[in-house]
Amino acid sequence: MKITKKIRLELVRRAAAAKENAYAPYSNFRVGAALMTDDGSVFEGCNVENASYGLTICAERNAVFQAAMHGKRNIIAVAVASDDDVFITPCGACRQVLAEFTNGSAEILLTTPDGKFQSVKLSKLFPTPPALKKLAGNHNT
Ligand SMILES: [Zn+2]
Repeated sequence: MKITKKIRLELVRRAAAAKENAYAPYSNFRVGAALMTDDGSVFEGCNVENASYGLTICAERNAVFQAAMHGKRNIIAVAVASDDDVFITPCGACRQVLAEFTNGSAEILLTTPDGKFQSVKLSKLFPTPPALKKLAGNHNT
């Protein structure tokens, strides 16, 4: 599926909307993410913090897990939004989780609140993902 400018704009818009649901009372750093899978489905996520800090989940992983729960396994693009005027990038944990469900060519759309965005390939942010052999079974690859 080709990622058009219209799709990019839609993902940027939906990531910003997802950010509005962020639960970030400890950092006040709200993040939203919206991803598209190869069949055109879109899933959103926001960061959800916890008083223990370590149990906090990032917006990107929240969105990936939503997609996985719906049986989607091939992410082609992800937009990430925050309130910062600089382009924020997914953290290391999110890069690794995204790599599990992409072929590396997925576009990461980095955004700013005024709607600007830039595209970078996940393979640039996370060039050498681990490649473990998957076992046979019901993992719905
Ligand atoms: Zn993260």
